[in-house]
Amino acid sequence: MERFSNISLKPYNTFSIDTIAREMYSFSEEKDLIELLEMHPKQPVLILGGGSNLLFTKPVDQLVLKNEIKGTQVIEEDEESVIVKVGAGENWHQFVSWAVEQGFGGIENMALIPGTVGAAPMQNIGAYGVELKDTFVELEAIQLDNQHVHRFDHKKCHFGYRYSIFKGPLKGEYCITRVVFKLKKNNKLNTSYGAILTELQKRDLVHPTIRDIYETVIDIRKSKLPDPQKIGNGGSFFKNPIVDIATLTKIKQDYPKIPHYPMDLDRVKIPAGWLIEQKGWKGYRRDDIGVYPQHALVLVNWGNGSGAAIWKLAQEIQSSVADTFGIELEPEVNIL
Ligand SMILES: Cc1cc2nc3c(=O)[nH]c(=O)nc-3n(C[C@H](O)[C@H](O)[C@H](O)COP(=O)(O)OP(=O)(O)OC[C@H]3O[C@@H](n4cnc5c(N)ncnc54)[C@H](O)[C@@H]3O)c2cc1C
Repeated sequence: MERFSNISLKPYNTFSIDTIAREMYSFSEEKDLIELLEMHPKQPVLILGGGSNLLFTKPVDQLVLKNEIKGTQVIEEDEESVIVKVGAGENWHQFVSWAVEQGFGGIENMALIPGTVGAAPMQNIGAYGVELKDTFVELEAIQLDNQHVHRFDHKKCHFGYRYSIFKGPLKGEYCITRVVFKLKKNNKLNTSYGAILTELQKRDLVHPTIRDIYETVIDIRKSKLPDPQKIGNGGSFFKNPIVDIATLTKIKQDYPKIPHYPMDLDRVKIPAGWLIEQKGWKGYRRDDIGVYPQHALVLVNWGNGSGAAIWKLAQEIQSSVADTFGIELEPEVNIL
């Protein structure tokens, strides 16, 4: 393990916010995490992965513990599938690339999502019609206040849209250390999502392989989303709101073309980016912060913007959307 004091977190968050952490340790084994927690009893802790779903609005007083537990291990295998156990500190995209390389399917639609494997169950990451929960088997986690090791199967995680129990009642109580997935050898590819389908047709790929989907997703994402290495951002800043049919009907009176996708019989999902765009925020810039010109759902730090300024802008966007549409946008990014 390694200790850092009064360290700038700028290189450790994709928004590139220059905030200071009083004390930070990196750890690469469960026993080191347990030792660190024992050394700092009762101290509030922030588990840090790749920092791609965090907005720092002030200096960080919590003890920052950076998860670097590595390892990708096939623990079971039959003709149809493999069970793989992955260290929480592994980079998510590298894990997806490894799976594609082996011919194991199920996560290729989630290529290029930044961050670590351990943070992926936190908000049940998802992209292009596939979510983490579709291949998830179980996870191991250490309870921060007593260092007990627990296993959470699918049911115990209470996965939902960009949600798990770790973002709800158990928020801040566990460090996820390993995640187990079931990947398929002859995977039924998910090409139903509009953008993928269009791109595959453009490329004349009638019988796409896992790798074709993986490469297509990477290309689509590169064309739509800012690269955090160049422009600070946290991906989608807000969740897409889910509203009842009565709310949709009311909005339709003024906005008959409002896009919406059925969730169940009574509820629809509305793209938050569309709502933000209607209010004229797309491409908005104030000093070094703003809304990405190609994607209204992505707030950006063009250089030396502060987390507090980005959060203030986010709240202004929330108010303007609520005033017009009566919809409260909920941040997807964790605000600290
Ligand atoms: C350009 C861009 C595109 C994105 N696209 C998508 C997308 O398509 N779909 C999607 O779902 N998300 C997307 N995201 C969001 C982000 O990549 C995911 O939420 C990712 O899983 C966060 O991983 P991380 O390791 O960076 O987590 P961090 O930002 O480090 O942490 C996020 C939260 O999880 C907690 N945490 C982290 N690791 C652990 C652990 N091991 N145990 C317990 N708690 C932990 C942290 O304390 C924090 O509360 C995108 C982000 C960016 C910047």
